[in-house]
Amino acid sequence: MKLLALPFILLFLNFNLISQHLMSPPNASRKEVKLIKSILKDYVNDEEALLIYNPYAPLYFGIYGITYQYTPNMCLISISASIADRDKRYYVILHELGHVLDIFYGDLSEYPPMWKGKRMDHTLDWNERPWEIHADEWANRLWKKYLPGDPPPNDLFDNVSFPHDCIFQRWGSIKFKSE
Ligand SMILES: [Zn+2]
Repeated sequence: MKLLALPFILLFLNFNLISQHLMSPPNASRKEVKLIKSILKDYVNDEEALLIYNPYAPLYFGIYGITYQYTPNMCLISISASIADRDKRYYVILHELGHVLDIFYGDLSEYPPMWKGKRMDHTLDWNERPWEIHADEWANRLWKKYLPGDPPPNDLFDNVSFPHDCIFQRWGSIKFKSE
């Protein structure tokens, strides 16, 4: 009986060994993939949690990253193909990962759009949205833990008058700063 059970135990162990939190395309930067994998490994306990990484998305001008949630433990993040600066890319990746961690921890959801138990208020300016502030806090914290030097200065994105990124927003509902 014990012998019979062994293959099943091995199968289970093997499944755990090969389970991965991240799916990324072959053209993704190895350093970026390694960074994301490390963070998911350190911060996500849910073995079935999955993140799909889309590193070079043709996003609308001024949008640097987008996070979408498909199920409670499955997300997609897209990073704009137009970001040339390496530190800027890393910061946007960490910001989107902040949204993903908030989703996996149950603080943020897309269906329905909720932040810490309350309906998300998209009439707020981008930089006043508590889930965006929290994602920046994640980005700064993760930067200090995983990357050398300091996070980029806050004015890194100030030359753009659009929201820095989008979460759970459709194009028609973007609120521009000039409005
Ligand atoms: Zn965001």
